[in-house]
Amino acid sequence: MQFIDLRTQYKLIEKELWNSFHDILSNTRFIMGKEVLQLEEKLQEYVGVKHCITCASGTDALLIPLMAYGVGSGDAVFVPDFTFYASAEVIALTGATPVFVDVKEDSFNIDCDSLQMAIDSVISENALKPKAVIAVDLFGLPAEFDRITTIASKYNLRIIEDGAQGFGGAIKGKKACGFGNVGATSFFPAKPLGCYGDGGAIFTNDDDFAAQMRSIRIHGQGRDKYENERLGLNGRLDTLQAAVLLAKLKIFDEELEQRNEVAARYNKGFDNILETPGFFEGYTSSWAQYTLKAEDETHREKLIKVLKDFDIPTAVYYPIPLHKQKVFTGIKGGYCQLNITDSLSKRVFSIPMHPYLKKEEQDRIIEIIRREMER
Ligand SMILES: *Cc1c(COP(=O)(O)O)cnc(C)c1O
Repeated sequence: MQFIDLRTQYKLIEKELWNSFHDILSNTRFIMGKEVLQLEEKLQEYVGVKHCITCASGTDALLIPLMAYGVGSGDAVFVPDFTFYASAEVIALTGATPVFVDVKEDSFNIDCDSLQMAIDSVISENALKPKAVIAVDLFGLPAEFDRITTIASKYNLRIIEDGAQGFGGAIKGKKACGFGNVGATSFFPAKPLGCYGDGGAIFTNDDDFAAQMRSIRIHGQGRDKYENERLGLNGRLDTLQAAVLLAKLKIFDEELEQRNEVAARYNKGFDNILETPGFFEGYTSSWAQYTLKAEDETHREKLIKVLKDFDIPTAVYYPIPLHKQKVFTGIKGGYCQLNITDSLSKRVFSIPMHPYLKKEEQDRIIEIIRREMER
């Protein structure tokens, strides 16, 4: 069994893909070819925002808006403690300080009470200037953007939505990556909408800000190709990857439905035996991951081993809270408690989740875990 089945999906888009590849290989527009622009139009329409700026990775999609905001040394950027490393790495890359915030046990997303507490402590300490919050749509579930927006506007904080795992999710019909001042996503192959390499995209409704970010994406380009107005990156998405995404976008909504069916079936199967991920009213998850909670670390190891014995892959996202990652241990912490993250990092494990997971495969996984739990 595979953790994520990209081969079945490939077979569905194979013909279209090779037609596009043939085109691009013949016209040799490998950089910023027409597919890149087509994709940006399709994606901004999908998310429902004015601008989509594709880029080289989800990490660049987070770094570019921070650079455009001029975030740097002496600034505090709030970020959940329980997320992928890149969410905080980009903050440190600009010279700013990541301030780690605890998450909620049921949603795995940033806890707004902790966020409020962390902001209060940073302000009362008066050493760092609160600048922005990076709210992550972890495992595909959008963060609580109504509350985050209320808090952020009190302190004039910019909101960056890290929708690397959240593309396709929604809150009351409004699509993920369209929340906050700017949304970022990743097209890493294992994400809900993935390409065949690295890729990412940025979303915003702000015209001037979009223009700045387009410039940063290509070496701070000005009006002319060799007039550079600011420091930037080599941060473009390849034309070939754009073609992959254009093909995948056509089947994406159907895949989202299938992911949601898989998640609902899992939740039913694990009812009363394990803590399952929550479904929240008004929220639609893109189910980048399906994550269960074991009782403790030993219990988790046992469940993972049993599944492995039956050739069922699992993964632990994430075993180390960010505040315990080597490069961040030097940062002053204590702006808020991080107990939930500490506990989750010892208990969570994710099981196969993709649109092409068969009912029989799911039932086998459920049965193996159920048997182990009842032993
Ligand atoms: C994958 C991921 C990123 C980084 O995306 P890349 O495309 O791998 O650079 C950032 N944040 C989160 C939450 C992610 O899951």
